[in-house]
Amino acid sequence: MILITGGAGYIGSHCVVDFIKSGYDVVVLDNLSTGHNQIIERLQDFASKEDVKGNFIDFINADIRDSYALNVLFNTYKIDCVIHFAADALVNESVIDPKKYYNNNVIGSINLLNAMVENNVKKIVFSSTCATYGEPEYVPIDEKHPQKPVNPYGNTKLAMEFAIKDYAKAYGLKYTIFRYFNVIGADSGSITGEWHDTETHLVPNILKANEEKVFKLFGTNYNTKDGTCVRDYIDVCDLARAHTLAYEYLKENTSTIINLGTGDGQSVKEIFSAVEKAIDAKIPLEECERREGDPAKLIAKPELAKTILHWEAKTPLEVSIKNANEWEKTLKTLNPVQKTEENFSRKAVL
Ligand code: UDP
Repeated sequence: MILITGGAGYIGSHCVVDFIKSGYDVVVLDNLSTGHNQIIERLQDFASKEDVKGNFIDFINADIRDSYALNVLFNTYKIDCVIHFAADALVNESVIDPKKYYNNNVIGSINLLNAMVENNVKKIVFSSTCATYGEPEYVPIDEKHPQKPVNPYGNTKLAMEFAIKDYAKAYGLKYTIFRYFNVIGADSGSITGEWHDTETHLVPNILKANEEKVFKLFGTNYNTKDGTCVRDYIDVCDLARAHTLAYEYLKENTSTIINLGTGDGQSVKEIFSAVEKAIDAKIPLEECERREGDPAKLIAKPELAKTILHWEAKTPLEVSIKNANEWEKTLKTLNPVQKTEENFSRKAVL
C-alpha cells in the first residue's frame, strides 16, 4: 500500500490518480490547509469506477507534524512507500513568512521521516524543486548543478534533501528525490486540477484573466529571447507518472535524485500566446515590473529520468493548456469550503 501525503493538493492528487490507475492501493494524508475536501471526494469517486484497478483505501485528515496520527496510520495500514508532497510551496510567501515554511516543510517532514523509521517504512519519493538550484550557473540544469537556493522555500526543500540522504545512510531508507521544474495542466477527465485559494501561477492566471482582471506579465527586460522569463513547463500527468515509475524502480534498485522537466524552455510571452491560441480567445494583458526572486531562465536536463526510469515528458503544451482550461471550467462549479481551524480534524501536536 502507498501513502500519499498532500494527496488533496495539485500534484499529489494527480499522483493519487496515477497510482490507482496503475492498480495500487492508496492512503492519503492531508491537513486540507491548501488541499481540498472536494478533491478527495472526486478521487474517491474516480477510484470507485468499475474499470479502475487500484483502490482509494482511506483519507486521513491530519498534519504531518502529528506523530500520533502518523503512528496510528502506520499501525493500521502496511505502507510500503511514502510519496511525500505535503508542503507549502510559494516562493514569495516563504520570504514573508519563513516560520511557516520551516515548520511545515522541515519540522513536518522530519516528523514524517521519524515515524517512518519507527514503523519500519523504508521507501520515500520526495518532491523537491529546481528552486534548490537557485540562480542557474548554466542551462540546461543537470542534477550535478550546484545547489544554492535564493529563498526560504528552496532552503527548506534542500534541508530535507540533506535529511533524507542522512536518514537513508543511517536507517536504511531508500529514496527518490525529484526536482520539479514548472508544473502545468490537469488530467484529461477533469477529476482534479490546480486549485489554489490565491492563485500565483502562470497558466491558471492567464486562464482566469478577463476584462475586469487583466493578466499581469512580470518583467519584460530579462536577458532572454523576448525579454520575458523562460521556464521548463512539464505536464502534471507526465510528472505524476514518474512517481509511480520511481516507486517501481525503488523496489528493485537504489536511491536516486532526478530532475523532472521537458528539456525545452518557453518564455512567458510564448505561453501567453499558446494559451490564446489553444482556447481561441483574446486575453487582456498588462506588462508589469519584475516579480522579486524570478531567475531569467530555468530549463531541466531531463536525460537521467529517461535513463533510469525510462520516463520522458509526452504531453504537448497545447494539450496541457486545454486540460487546464477544462479544469478551470470545472472549478467554477465547485464551492470552496470556508477554511477555519475547525476544518482540521487533527491539529499539530507541536
Ligand atoms: N508569471 C507572470 N504572471 C503571473 C504569474 C507568473 O508573469 O500572473 C511569470 C513569473 O514571473 C515567472 C513565470 O511566469 O516568470 C512562471 O511563474 P510561476 O509562478 O507559474 O512559477 P515559478 O517559476 O515561480 O515556479
